[in-house]
Amino acid sequence: MKIDYTIPVESAKLIEIEEKYGAHNYHPLPVVLKKGEGPFVWDVEGKKYFDFLSGYSAVNQGHCHPKIIAALVEQSQQLTLTSRAFHSDKMADYTAYITRYFGYDKVLPMNTGVEAVETAIKLARKWGYGVKGVAEGRAKIVTVEGNFHGRTVNVISFSTDATARDGFGPFVPGYISIPYNNLDALKAALQDDDVVAFLVEPIQGEAGVFVPDEGYLAEAYRLCRENNVLFIGDEIQTGLARTGKMLACDHENVRPDILILGKALSGGVLPISAVLADDDIMLTIQPGEHGSTYGGNPLACAVAIASLSVLKDEGLADKAAELGEYFRDELRKIAHPAIQEVRGKGLLNAIVVKHPNAEAAYLLCVELMKKGLLAKPTHGDKIRFAPPLVISKEQLTEALAIIKDSLAVL
Ligand code: PLP
Repeated sequence: MKIDYTIPVESAKLIEIEEKYGAHNYHPLPVVLKKGEGPFVWDVEGKKYFDFLSGYSAVNQGHCHPKIIAALVEQSQQLTLTSRAFHSDKMADYTAYITRYFGYDKVLPMNTGVEAVETAIKLARKWGYGVKGVAEGRAKIVTVEGNFHGRTVNVISFSTDATARDGFGPFVPGYISIPYNNLDALKAALQDDDVVAFLVEPIQGEAGVFVPDEGYLAEAYRLCRENNVLFIGDEIQTGLARTGKMLACDHENVRPDILILGKALSGGVLPISAVLADDDIMLTIQPGEHGSTYGGNPLACAVAIASLSVLKDEGLADKAAELGEYFRDELRKIAHPAIQEVRGKGLLNAIVVKHPNAEAAYLLCVELMKKGLLAKPTHGDKIRFAPPLVISKEQLTEALAIIKDSLAVL
């Protein structure tokens, strides 16, 4: 297997500059993008691609959605930042809008996904001490193997991915790690009276789209209830219509005690994240105990309202469900020997590549790129296929043809 690819001159020049001046904490495909619209992006040479990563599921509404951009432009000419030292009209609109949208008493607005995860952890600990009665400093949170919740020192403290952890210790204590999709292990872990929360992704996205067994989330939630432990749903990647429901937990009628959102909450426009919970949990945090300069800024509030309204107005959850079924069926029909498995829910899908060449998944992504489709391998042998949810069935069919053609290189 050999892939010939010469990076075009302009792109090569820009990549060289970025490599010289930018930190090397990512290994991007050799493509330099400068424009996006709907499910497409264009490189600096003007070549058009299907975007099958969608900013790791931040661009569910499609690139530069006109309604989201209109909200951004309009608000950016009015007021962008007050800090939470003062109220803003948009914060009132947004808090009322998002809490009604998801059916929670309160929202705590943050910026990046990992900040929202940190917020959820702090909330759970506060609740543990103030409501559950755990002795100060003893709270534990149950996490699962293969998780991905972000990159802060605290959050990588309970990562099981050596690449994310090695060289960054010492780590933060207070976490118990159990296997994902294992209810017996959860049941055992919850026997510890100091456990305040179970933190889980309803589908493990970064790990390569691991979908747990049907019933796992519902039973995990029930076990948490039984043991007076909070169920924290990290829906940063799975939420907001991506998996064919507004939230992936909706597939099992689970309502997390603490819900974490990010990514598509802004349709890819700004870092906007949120934590939702009811008063008995949220009001355990008092003024001055937690915050963020940019969290809940008026620009973000306006953008988030527009982003959420687009998801409903355009029926993107139902669309993801329907197109996802079609996509997986068609991928399975390809039946290429290098495709070991096709898995996913809605339009959050992945293939597992099995090939003697350890670089096969990366090389396949290069071939896909040459043919006009951008996707990125994760953990070496998995390729996530997660296009913007505004993609049409015809466009998805075109993309499938590219995937089929590209597999010929393996
Ligand atoms: N949680 C999950 C499930 C994620 O997929 C991610 C990012 O991929 C994060 C948290 C971290 O979000 P951010 O990169 O915005 O900090």
